[in-house]
Amino acid sequence: MDVAPIIVWLQSEFRLLDNPALRAAELRGAPVLPLYIWSPAEEGEWPLGQASRWWLHHSLTAFGESLRDAGSRLVIREGSALEELHRLIKQTGAKSVFWNRRYEPAIIKRDGQLKSALTGDGLEAQSFNSALLHEPWTVQNQAGRPFQVFTPFWKTCLAKADPPAPQPAPEFLPPPKDWPASLAVGDLNLLPKIDWAAGMRETWQPGEAGARARLQQFVTAAFTDYAAERNRPDHPGTSRLSPHLHFGELSPRQVWHAFRDLGIPDAKRTPESSSDRSQSLGAVESPPRHGAWRNSQFLAELGWREFAHHLLFHFPHSTRKPLRSKFEGFPWREDAAWLRAWQKGLTGYPFVDAGLRELWATGWMHNRARMVVGSFLVKDLLIDWRAGARWFWDTLVDADLANNTLGWQWVSGCGADAAPYFRVFNPAGQGEKFDPDGDYVRRWVPELSDLPARWIHRPFDAPSEVLAAAQVELGHTYPEPLVSHAIARDVALEAYANLS
Ligand code: FAD
Repeated sequence: MDVAPIIVWLQSEFRLLDNPALRAAELRGAPVLPLYIWSPAEEGEWPLGQASRWWLHHSLTAFGESLRDAGSRLVIREGSALEELHRLIKQTGAKSVFWNRRYEPAIIKRDGQLKSALTGDGLEAQSFNSALLHEPWTVQNQAGRPFQVFTPFWKTCLAKADPPAPQPAPEFLPPPKDWPASLAVGDLNLLPKIDWAAGMRETWQPGEAGARARLQQFVTAAFTDYAAERNRPDHPGTSRLSPHLHFGELSPRQVWHAFRDLGIPDAKRTPESSSDRSQSLGAVESPPRHGAWRNSQFLAELGWREFAHHLLFHFPHSTRKPLRSKFEGFPWREDAAWLRAWQKGLTGYPFVDAGLRELWATGWMHNRARMVVGSFLVKDLLIDWRAGARWFWDTLVDADLANNTLGWQWVSGCGADAAPYFRVFNPAGQGEKFDPDGDYVRRWVPELSDLPARWIHRPFDAPSEVLAAAQVELGHTYPEPLVSHAIARDVALEAYANLS
């Protein structure tokens, strides 16, 4: 007698290791049918940006190959999730659908409707947590309400037991009797028509193998001193795991347990102290617990990721509206030319321009630069944070609704636990502090590369003979500043102070 296959519907968790929906299906011993559905954006959902589409193409390709190594395949369909699931259920006789949960408001709504429809038809529909250490409804303040401030939120998370250890990858997934028809990844037309992705190809290896290599490299780097280095865009001091985490090529539990095995919080490590970490990248067993590593600055960054999902879940309107409602009436300036200059990295402030050009070339920008370019857009240019969020959404390979919304509300001062509105980053001062030799600017703004470090973050103040010696002609080879920061800061502070 044929055993009905279990459909494992994968939405954004393209890995074999620590994949709860896949693991649950494997443990049943029934044939497993891995499925991806490319659906038009649901109402209220943000359609995938261009850089994310590029990543998705490669991530799906890599995942399909991993599944083949496990004796399986990725079936790809296009259309409405509910209709495609029904069609496949009819074609294969499947009685169960498993998937991993997501937390974007439009998807929560869609998945809820889907679960009711499937169970209404007498089918088994089960969902699992794969994307977070702690799901949003499991972390509450003493009054039983969601947190709006990061520190007590993360303290509460840290007081909880460790999240479960990562689950092993399936060695073999029993195939269904017949494989249903599938599209090829290329049929989804995710890649750009004009190839602008060379910089992304050079920078990234989408897929589970690339994610694990990146994690391994980060946790074994003997010289890493994350707490000190994480603010330096001129150094490779952060993990660059964000796109891998977003596309679920790596789970936060894998990262957590890799650090737990390491046991040392952001300290300088010796090669000996980081000897064999391969186990934690997918381990089920972990060595005994150390205490101090839990307070590491790096894990706190994962905490911000958790907090962002917590806020998005509890305050779904935050993608469109400021969390502090008094900011709703802020008099934003409409200036298409300034917005375009900002997007292209032509603001006349080298540190800001370096960040925006790094983004355009690689699909990623260092966090310090994200904060400074964000502050420049909303506070120096007075352009609405939602315009910045949309640009990031289209150009980041790690574009993530929760993290992006939190980041933009934070820089604008209108978020729950945000930078106070009177904190206006000085774009030249930030460069001098976090890129003291100017290497970051030299890399991304090559027309300034011959300027000495003293002037590289403020060419507009440099003596004319210094500019001439470096072949910089302001207004010709590099723009004059769009605004004077000193004046723009006062205008912004006044506008913010006038909010009732
Ligand atoms: P690491 O420093 O190595 O941190 C490890 C992981 O923790 C990251 O991969 C990420 O998943 C998480 N993390 C780190 N910092 C934050 C943070 N501030 N908020 C939430 N999670 C964090 N991150 C995204 O993943 N997607 C976005 O769309 C996004 N948009 C942002 C927009 C703005 C305006 C700002 C200020 C920040 C934004 N961030 C976003 C957060 C942060 O800049 C990136 O997560 C980080 O730069 C990724 O680099 P990394 O992996 O080397 O980080």
